Amino acid sequence: GPALIDGRARARALQRRVACDVVRLAELGVRCGLATVLVGTDYAAGAYARRLERAAAAVGIEHRHHHLPAHASRGEVLELLARLGDDPLVSGILVLRPLPAHLDEGELFTALDPAKDIEAVHPENAGLLALGTPRFVPSTPASVFHLLDSWLDEAGTDRDAWYRGSTVCVVGRSNNVGKPLISLASARGATVVSCDENTSRTGRLARYTSLGDVLVVAAGVPGLIRAEHVAPGAVVLDVGINPVPEPATGRTRLVGDVDPGAVAAAWAATPVPGGVGPVTDVWLVQNTVLAAEEAAKRR
Ligand code: NAD
Repeated sequence: GPALIDGRARARALQRRVACDVVRLAELGVRCGLATVLVGTDYAAGAYARRLERAAAAVGIEHRHHHLPAHASRGEVLELLARLGDDPLVSGILVLRPLPAHLDEGELFTALDPAKDIEAVHPENAGLLALGTPRFVPSTPASVFHLLDSWLDEAGTDRDAWYRGSTVCVVGRSNNVGKPLISLASARGATVVSCDENTSRTGRLARYTSLGDVLVVAAGVPGLIRAEHVAPGAVVLDVGINPVPEPATGRTRLVGDVDPGAVAAAWAATPVPGGVGPVTDVWLVQNTVLAAEEAAKRR
């Protein structure tokens, strides 16, 4: 079988590095603060906020969670974002998704202070990323390439040359995951193939995914990727997190988008859970620290 890329171990290593940065900055009088904003009661978003609470505590930075009711008005949310933008103790702001239907996501993202927009959802930051000169790299795609880069380093490859000679196939093209993955693969000089739902409808998904020396899957469809989709020797990174009910126990289990049997002939693969997910939380906290450091330079 393939080598497993251990996300938990890499998340712990990253966390140690970020914790050191926090101490170094504190000695310079720079404080880091993460603000999360949840509008409504989405269960997964609430769970994510609690995970970030732990991730912030683990590296010693402040975290404040702002919970607005589902019926909060556009004005109320904009006012909160403005207040967080002005607050010198807040260095990073995350607006949790999904937002209630009456709120315009694009309007709220554009209202964020770009210097505190740690998920790079403001058009200025999304644009900088697309240009290959990111201010912040959004946490999920950043985690995918953190795992891939470190895997290639450990395997002793000349990473830059490897990317330039490789094809990266990305399945899924959302603004928060798929599109930034395409930008990051392009920035490394790879040949990039991008698939979405329409590719599956044409019945040609396997034709494109099997071109990938790297296959990154972020579709949100459990078991989408089977053995026929994966080139022998590929590195497979599974971003999907799908709750699947287990009738026997009455509980739900988390599975990825990649069928476990699909990677039998792969070079390496990330597990779910324990792959991309654990790195994501630490990365977001790291972006908060980076934002505080940049803000201090401007003062
Ligand atoms: P999304 O629903 O916004 O986008 C899904 C994308 O996949 C779309 O471009 C869609 O066209 C494509 N797609 C859907 N069905 C497909 C199919 N059958 N074949 C090919 N493409 C298909 O989702 P998202 O926010 O990008 O998240 C994707 C997955 O990643 C979800 O399972 C989500 O839970 C997970 N996720 C994980 C993390 C993490 O930290 N590991 C973070 C964010 C999202």
